Amino acid sequence: MIPSEITESIEAWLLWQQQIQPFLFNESFQAEIRSVITEETGRIFQESEVFPLSVPGLTKNAPAAKNAAEPIDESLPPLERVRVKAEKCSACRLGAKRTKLVFGEGNPDADIMFVGEGPGEDEDLSGRPFVGKAGQLLTKIIENGMKIPREQVYIANIVKCRPPANRDPMPDEAQCCIGFLKEQIRIVNPKVLILLGKVATRYLLGLEGAITRARESTYEYEGIKVFVTYHPSALLRNESYKRPVWEDIKKVMKYLGMM
Ligand code: SF4
Repeated sequence: MIPSEITESIEAWLLWQQQIQPFLFNESFQAEIRSVITEETGRIFQESEVFPLSVPGLTKNAPAAKNAAEPIDESLPPLERVRVKAEKCSACRLGAKRTKLVFGEGNPDADIMFVGEGPGEDEDLSGRPFVGKAGQLLTKIIENGMKIPREQVYIANIVKCRPPANRDPMPDEAQCCIGFLKEQIRIVNPKVLILLGKVATRYLLGLEGAITRARESTYEYEGIKVFVTYHPSALLRNESYKRPVWEDIKKVMKYLGMM
């Protein structure tokens, strides 16, 4: 009997070929969707005993799985141990295409932890979170607005590898990766979490909908106070978000007794 994952995969291919592809005229968008479907279908087929096929272009995850089983040096600091695990991870399709893993960085005892969605091109190349234009804006918010050095906070993302063409992480990618972030939050144990944008808000709090609405309230995650604001890249696209972001940052500063 053919497992349901495989029949669903075949159905996805047929749907793509017969009903979606003919109506998409943007070639790079076509290529993007094709690559996602190919990889996911290939992974399911490769892991299946029914169709042990080899799919061209698909990175086999066997070596990473073998590395992942190797013991981790227990003398490393807790965050470094999680980083080592993440460095070996190929649990979702994003791992095959990363240049560098973007684990997160900052003060391991930070009071403030920012969570974004995932690395962009600059971050993928450097292995550091928030270093592109949006990252420079975040640094300004921290250093000029909050008047603390960036090194004093901790910064991480929902996914640790770059989604192609800077698309949002897909639900299965976020679910695969979020365990690393949860470990980071548990270890850093900040006084506040600041979620940047809808992706972080969706996957950490389970909230759908507009940030405009979400930022009106505060939340709790594992006993930590959570604030929601716009992602700095949204700020780059729309200057009118400047004032609400500053209002959100002031709320955080008041909560922490910084003003
Ligand atoms: S995005 Fe996360 S789950 Fe996916 S391969 Fe990278 S580290 Fe692993």
